[in-house]
Amino acid sequence: MGALTSTSRCILVICQRLLHENYNVWNIDKVRNLFSEDVAKRILETPLVSSVHEDKVVWEEERNECYSVKSGYKLAMCYIIGNDTYHVAGNWNGIWKAQVPHKTHHLLWRLCRGCLPTRYRNVWNIDKVRNLFSEDVAKRILETPLVSSVHEDKVVWEEERNECYSVKSGYKLAMCYIIGNDTYHVAGNWNGIWKAQVPHKTHHLLWRLCRGCLPTRYRLLERRLECTLNCPVCDEEIEDELHIFFRCAVARDSWCAAGLSSVLHNAAYQQINAMDRIFAVCSNESNDTAGRVTMLLWCIWHNRNDKLWNDNVQMPRQIGRYVFDAWNDWYSVHKLQSNSVSGTTEADLVRWEKPVLGWVKCNVDVAFVSGSGRTSVELCFRDNSCQFMVGKTQWRQTVISSVEGEA
Ligand SMILES: [Zn+2]
Repeated sequence: MGALTSTSRCILVICQRLLHENYNVWNIDKVRNLFSEDVAKRILETPLVSSVHEDKVVWEEERNECYSVKSGYKLAMCYIIGNDTYHVAGNWNGIWKAQVPHKTHHLLWRLCRGCLPTRYRNVWNIDKVRNLFSEDVAKRILETPLVSSVHEDKVVWEEERNECYSVKSGYKLAMCYIIGNDTYHVAGNWNGIWKAQVPHKTHHLLWRLCRGCLPTRYRLLERRLECTLNCPVCDEEIEDELHIFFRCAVARDSWCAAGLSSVLHNAAYQQINAMDRIFAVCSNESNDTAGRVTMLLWCIWHNRNDKLWNDNVQMPRQIGRYVFDAWNDWYSVHKLQSNSVSGTTEADLVRWEKPVLGWVKCNVDVAFVSGSGRTSVELCFRDNSCQFMVGKTQWRQTVISSVEGEA
C-alpha cells in the first residue's frame, strides 16, 4: 500500500481492514459499502504492492520518501507562483549557493522577501533618544515600532478619520477622561444649550455660565480675587449669575423690551440658580425661543462689561431692541444660508407691508458711526403700490439714542 501518499495515518489504518486477509487485494464490497462512490473509486484505483506489508506515510517529492523543507517549499512555490503575486523575481539560486552557514542564507532570504522585522531596517538611534529624553519617555519611544512604508513624519490626530485635530473631538476625548474619573462633570441638558438657534459666540457664553466659569464678582471672590461684590450695573446687590441675568433691574427691563417677559416670569423657570433656569429654558422652549433668550443673556453680559470697562450705559429698551433685531438678522441670514426656509417664522412677520389706499408710509432708520460723534438719519416714503416717492438722508454732530433719532 506504499502508493497511498496523500491520505492520513488513520485512513491507512482503516484501509488495512479493507484488505482480504493475507492478500494484497482490496475487499471491494467492504470499500463500496463504507465509502461514497467517488472516494471508493479512488481507493480501489490505488495499486497495492505485494512487497509492502506495513502502511507508512510517504512524501512523494523526495527520493528517500521523507519530507524536507526544501522540497515542501518547492512544491508550495509551484502552486503559489503559478497563480498569484507572492513571487519575488530575482536570482534566488545565487543566494542559496553562497558558501555560508544556513542561518545566514535564511536572513538573506527573509530580507529579499521583505519579511524581515522592521527593526532591522528602520532603527532608532538609541543613544540619541536616550540622551535627549528622560528614561521613561525614551523607553516609550524605543518601544514604538517603525514601519518601513512610512518615510516622512507627520502629526496624526487619532480621534478623527481625516487625522486632523478638531476642537470637537478634542473636547469629547477630554470629557471621556474627565467624566470617567473626577468631579468636573456638570449634570444638565447640554445638548439643549448647543441646539439653541443662535450665533456660536452666545452658545459659548451659556456654556461658561453653566460651567460656573463666567467671571461675575461673586465667582471672582470665590477664586480668592479681591474685588467689590456689588453689581457693576445697579451697584445695589451682590453680582452673581442669578442677579446679573435675571434679577438686576436693567436685566428684567431688558427681558421685557426683548419681548421675552413671559419666559422670565414663567413659573417653570424660577429655579434658585441661573444654571438650572437656563437648562430648563433650553429643554422646554423651542430652539428659536431658546436662541432669543441666549442672545438676550449675551447682550446683558456685554452691556455689563461695557459699563464696567468703558462706562457706557445702555437703556434696557436699547438692549431689548438690539436683541430682537440681532436675532432676527442672524436668523434670516442663517436660514438663507442653510437654504431650508420652512414654516412662518417671526423673522417673516417683521417684513415691510404696504400702506392702505390713500396713505403714504415713511420708514426711518438712524445710524451711529462710533467715535465720530455723529448720528445719521435716513427717511424713505412709499405709496400703497410700493412705489418709492421720496427719500432723505441727513446727519447731525451729536449722539442721540436710536429711539430719539427715529422719533
Ligand atoms: Zn444689578
